[in-house]
Amino acid sequence: MLDGERRRDCLLRPITGRLEREVAESGRGIQSLAEQVTRILTHAVERIAGQKVSKDRVRQLCSGDREFLMLQLQSALHPGPRWLTRTCRGCREPVQFQLKADQIPVKPAGRQFPKAEVLLSIGKVDIRVPNGGDEEAVAGSARDPESALKILVRRLVSVGQEPVDADTLSREDQLQIDRTLDEMSPQAGQRITTTCPYCELNQDLPIDHYGWITEPGRGLDQEIHTIAFHYHWSENDILSLPSRRRKTYIQLIEQSLGMHPGSKDRQKLW
Ligand SMILES: [Zn+2]
Repeated sequence: MLDGERRRDCLLRPITGRLEREVAESGRGIQSLAEQVTRILTHAVERIAGQKVSKDRVRQLCSGDREFLMLQLQSALHPGPRWLTRTCRGCREPVQFQLKADQIPVKPAGRQFPKAEVLLSIGKVDIRVPNGGDEEAVAGSARDPESALKILVRRLVSVGQEPVDADTLSREDQLQIDRTLDEMSPQAGQRITTTCPYCELNQDLPIDHYGWITEPGRGLDQEIHTIAFHYHWSENDILSLPSRRRKTYIQLIEQSLGMHPGSKDRQKLW
């Protein structure tokens, strides 16, 4: 969604070591996950709907689009499945399962997206879907759901240009706003159905679309060191390589040293 128009095209930047490093270091000096996502997408997306990306454009993207782009990025950076561990609701044992970012179902935007007119107890109001700017605005109130809700209602619900105060809304109004937002917003699946291997309870377990950001790096510095050591290329040049090409060079170096990927000898390289 851009400037009030529904668009589906976006272009990620080529995946290079530099982008991997920017993602890995995206939490520095950042106050909230919402800000971090804005920073990552500003680095990682080249164009949205044919337009160059800026921090403000990323903030204007609706939350569902930001989530979708982060899944695309995760899939490009880490194409393999990710192991997740959750606690079984039946026997409380840790349940492990694999998840691939590109297999997570995404619900498309609803008919009224991005803004709906709804009749509440206070009269007709406009409700719009939340965006990155809204996420950042409520991030500071993450531990105080009531004040987060008030901030969000003032930003998303209006009568004409006038924001609506959450205190003027009934419980039924709030439910109506929730339903409207659920219907309008595009959203990636938030849960996965799996069977516990211990007690065989079939259950929906929550998945976290942003957990991968803070997972430990996958040896980028070691790979830079290996290539620099053998080819004498600068760090800058190595970081500019497409990540797949960098991995290929690592394999070639290993082969030339008579090593096989994954063998115990691998560690001698570093
Ligand atoms: Zn169980």
